[in-house]
Amino acid sequence: MAQLRFHAIKTSLKRKPLKIKEGKRRSEIFGANVFNEAAMRQYLTKTAFKSVLEAIEKGTKIDRHVADHISTGMKEWAISKGATHYTHWFQPLTGATAEKHDAFFETIGDGLAIEKFGGDQLVQQEPDASSFPNGGIRNTFEARGYTAWDPTSPAFIYDKTLCIPTVFVAYTGEALDFKTPLLRALQAVDTASVAVCKYFDKNVKRVTASLGWEQEYFLIDSDLASSRPDISLTGRTLLGHTAAKGQQLDDHYFGTIPARAMAYMRDLEHHCMLLGIPAKTRHNEVAPNQFELAPIFEEANLAVDHNSLLMDIMQKIGKRHNFTVLMHEKPFKGVNGSGKHNNWSLSTDTGVNLLAPGKTPMSNLQFLTFFINTIKAVQDHEELLRAAIASASNDHRLGANEAPPAIMSVFIGDQLTKVLEELESVTNGKLSPEEKTDLKLNVVGKIPEILRDNTDRNRTSSFAFTGNKFEFRAVGSTANCAKPMTVLNTIVANQLMEFKKEVDALIKSKTMKKDDAIFNVLREYIKKSKNILFEGNGYSEEWEVEAKKRGLSNNKTTPEALKVKMTKANIELFEKLGVMNKVESESRYEIEMEEYILHIQIESRVLGDIARNHIVPVAVRYQNILIDNVTGLKSIYGDRFKDFAKEQLALIEQISGHIEAINSSVTDMIEARKQFNKETDIEKKADGYCNKVKPLFEDIRYHCDKLELMVDDEIWPMTKYRELLFTK
Ligand code: ADP
Ligand code: MG
Repeated sequence: MAQLRFHAIKTSLKRKPLKIKEGKRRSEIFGANVFNEAAMRQYLTKTAFKSVLEAIEKGTKIDRHVADHISTGMKEWAISKGATHYTHWFQPLTGATAEKHDAFFETIGDGLAIEKFGGDQLVQQEPDASSFPNGGIRNTFEARGYTAWDPTSPAFIYDKTLCIPTVFVAYTGEALDFKTPLLRALQAVDTASVAVCKYFDKNVKRVTASLGWEQEYFLIDSDLASSRPDISLTGRTLLGHTAAKGQQLDDHYFGTIPARAMAYMRDLEHHCMLLGIPAKTRHNEVAPNQFELAPIFEEANLAVDHNSLLMDIMQKIGKRHNFTVLMHEKPFKGVNGSGKHNNWSLSTDTGVNLLAPGKTPMSNLQFLTFFINTIKAVQDHEELLRAAIASASNDHRLGANEAPPAIMSVFIGDQLTKVLEELESVTNGKLSPEEKTDLKLNVVGKIPEILRDNTDRNRTSSFAFTGNKFEFRAVGSTANCAKPMTVLNTIVANQLMEFKKEVDALIKSKTMKKDDAIFNVLREYIKKSKNILFEGNGYSEEWEVEAKKRGLSNNKTTPEALKVKMTKANIELFEKLGVMNKVESESRYEIEMEEYILHIQIESRVLGDIARNHIVPVAVRYQNILIDNVTGLKSIYGDRFKDFAKEQLALIEQISGHIEAINSSVTDMIEARKQFNKETDIEKKADGYCNKVKPLFEDIRYHCDKLELMVDDEIWPMTKYRELLFTK
């Protein structure tokens, strides 16, 4: 093993950055491999083009006959770009993306062949993907799954394959993927927002949610990474003593990007451009060898697809550069983990960002309406939001003193806090003309100015308002953004519907004017949303105490966080909004719990194996060297040997102590696993893995890491933190 380590180090030190050819300007190649509007115009008939546009903009159905025209055009385009295969590209509940390739090629007898791709193949496929998790849906209904084209996300070519973004559903209609509920949630927020927008502007016909994600990741030399079984099998280090130098000096953050990483990023960005992923910023992150890529924000469904696609190509391009890309939330102990901030906003088809203040008092009141309703939605459903980002790997990050805590809270800044305070004291009932004028001129009217210099940013908040968008920071780096986006858009849609109902009721019953009614309802929301607003340090212990007093949840582990999804109220919420029915909610819960258990189970097995088969034998070997040394000293010095062997003897004893501790903890861990594997109740099983199996990881790691500090470096089998993190 140590041989493998040194071989990997040698190889990694010899590496040179790959030369990346970038011929054309980025603006020229942007979207070259996407069947976008320009390509459609060229390859589709007028009717077909119109029908796709309508499907995108209004969600209308595409006629089967027209689908034949579209598929023909798409095929011609794809073949002109060198594609030989096509695939329905979807996002099953595994979290990864899935594809099954079919060739365009078809034989037509007499030894002849043609390239064929019909409307049927475009619109619907049956991948017989029966091995994807379905949480009982397909077993219950004995139904098969099929994939269906989602025209709102354009087809693209990757690796000579035409990829058609699709939803994945059971024949009974239940969603088997992440995309379907997301599309439904986006529909819900669209409808609810448009209804509220009508108070301010009758011309609004459509509201779309935007998402701008920021992907953090680590780049580790692939030989170094694959020299470690834990990285290879779990994506993180299960043991390893922190290096003498970590991120204390802050010398990596925003520093010069190392040459090999730079070549990788260039290559990656080139592919992003071809695929129409609008990659915009790149920089070093806080930890050594940690980086970030962020695109320009896009419509949420497209942004989700682009993030999934990006995560996929990041790995593929990594291989070419001899990098293993670690997307895990906490690959290394003691240095920063990785997140994926989700920047979210709502905008109208008239070009207004509803979460940005406007130029007139009326547009600012509209801004405040959406702003306050979002806060209220988070206040009422903070536990659901927490559940949306729960995973075994994100548990290492949330609440771990460097990432937003497991407590959800909203940061809005001093200035907007003051605005809310003023609004809180508006008159109950009809407002006098003077009060209204004062509000419009001095409170609502001043918002754009105050926001312009609202620069204080709170990095410790899990959900922060940042001038023209909310930033959900607790999302993990491995997450499929569809999950948080589905929940966020659902709860906001629900809240906006409530708001509309209340405002309409006031207008009707109390014959209030629209503005009076809006001010009255907002005032009450502000009063009711106080608990979720927090401007202080989210990482502090005081906040944990304070949050508890406020009645906010602090679900630190995934099993605890996920349970919330199964409350009657939450199941009904998704049902009411048409996002997920009860079966879909339940199946997702089951899948996520199962995924959690499997995750911990795999880590536990890998850790047990490394500790017993890699660490202990090496510790024994080193102990034997020491014993030989002591025996030698004794043969030379006789009784006086102890004067010279004191340290060696102490080490021999310490090593025995650590070996014993490791062995007994590994035994306990295996026993705990056996016990909970028998458990048929999924909640009890997950709790067992969480509270009985997982805590032993720390014990085992502690002793292994102590041994790392004692044992001769030359025989230590595991590639060390300094080698993993400081090889550039
Ligand atoms: P940081 O949080 O690192 O300071 P930026 O302010 O540059 O980052 O923005 C981060 C992300 O927010 C980018 O992906 C950007 O496209 C996105 N973003 C900017 N404006 C909006 C918006 N109105 N809606 C959604 N995302 C947005
Ligand atoms: Mg950010």
